Amino acid sequence: MHEIDLNLIEMTLDVMKFAIGRITDTDPVLGKPKTEKELKSLVGDTVTPKGIGGETAFKLFRDVLIKASIPIDHPRHLAFVPASPTRSAVMFDLVTSAASVHGAFWLEGAGCIFAENEAMRWLVSLTGLPEGSFGVFTSGGTEANLSAMVTAREAWRARDESRATTRGIIITSAGAHSSVKAMAKVIDCDIERVDTEERFEREMLEAHIAAMPAQDRNRLFAVVATAGTTNAGVIDDLKGIGSYCRDNEIWFHVDAAYGGGALAAPSVRHLFNGIELADSVTIDPHKWLFSPYDCGAVIYREPELAKDAHSQGGSYLDIFYDEGYKGFNPADYQIQLTRRVRGLPLWFSLAMHGTDRYAKAIERGIELAKIAGRLIDEDPYLELVRKPSLSCVLFRRVGWKPEDYTHWTIKNHDAGFALVAPTKWRTNGEHETVARFCFINPDTTTRDIEDILLTMRT
Ligand SMILES: *Cc1c(COP(=O)(O)O)cnc(C)c1O
Repeated sequence: MHEIDLNLIEMTLDVMKFAIGRITDTDPVLGKPKTEKELKSLVGDTVTPKGIGGETAFKLFRDVLIKASIPIDHPRHLAFVPASPTRSAVMFDLVTSAASVHGAFWLEGAGCIFAENEAMRWLVSLTGLPEGSFGVFTSGGTEANLSAMVTAREAWRARDESRATTRGIIITSAGAHSSVKAMAKVIDCDIERVDTEERFEREMLEAHIAAMPAQDRNRLFAVVATAGTTNAGVIDDLKGIGSYCRDNEIWFHVDAAYGGGALAAPSVRHLFNGIELADSVTIDPHKWLFSPYDCGAVIYREPELAKDAHSQGGSYLDIFYDEGYKGFNPADYQIQLTRRVRGLPLWFSLAMHGTDRYAKAIERGIELAKIAGRLIDEDPYLELVRKPSLSCVLFRRVGWKPEDYTHWTIKNHDAGFALVAPTKWRTNGEHETVARFCFINPDTTTRDIEDILLTMRT
């Protein structure tokens, strides 16, 4: 028996007290980054041969480090794609760590992987993909996109040996997330982007392919459509693009990392029609499904193809595939081997609250975007750049130059009031700097929006 260290218990209580305080705090301090030099001078040396002690280290974290970090679930954090993990999911994230489970193979993680898969089954059901479709939780949308792209390329090569060393081509649109291009670099394929940030449609894809040299057309193995662009919430023509891809044996990947949560929202579900034609889908539960970081997901129409692409062999791994330990091995379906059972917090929260609560919380984000749209319409200083889509709102302050938006962002952040950042949008061929809201947190209020819009008066 190890001796129980009273200090450790006290320390644990302190840490738990902080965690409980934080998750019950609905208006946390909006932290601000400091320079590395400033942080170093405030905390000094923390990793030392003898250690500085838990009490000191925790004090530095609580009093300095966390204050130089931004709580992503602040109700007036409306920049980028914010997040808003449920309290139960955050608490269960602590439990997931405490449980110390290896989530790569059924042999080690069966019970926890079973629970992850319960949550996954719900995600898959939202897509309307056929029986047999299944997925796995990843570190995020980037890894999900990468895992899908590798699977697509391997399946394409497996269909025709002459492609074994052929460099592939992926077509997507200018509205696709930066990770699609970045992951094309990782798998060393070419990427061609149809030049639209608005809805990417079948006709555009067909025109693009028709204009490709024949030898390039033979290298085309996948099309990536976006269901909820990160910048503006635009949903591509999934039905048109999907049916074209199915007819032409081209892998159809739908990147719904941000927008995927809205599959659970009845008011907008029809916008996603055609997603059921996908060969693979990316959804980030850590964006609009209220999971703590990090939790992405990739879903495959034919999981066996992902297995062919991703399972790792090795004499030390053989036992994992023994008949006696047979089960679902998350390691077989994406690029990561050792992994935390990061779907567990989502599972617990779903089990606790029920999926109806999720639908309601997601609908609230869409409603907030509509409310913001109305307030902007009514304000003589402001104009909508485009109609709000999903939970994204792009708008301009009449007369402002790009630097005015930057100053506005910094001023609100410095005041600890809000984090709202500008973006760029192409209007009449010109890239214009505009303001942007992205709503995730259902606790954001109309008053929050009104107060932020008021800061654009001056
Ligand atoms: C956020 C996002 C990604 C990247 O996801 P990470 O979880 O940040 O890796 C990919 N695609 C889209 C559409 C996104 O919004």
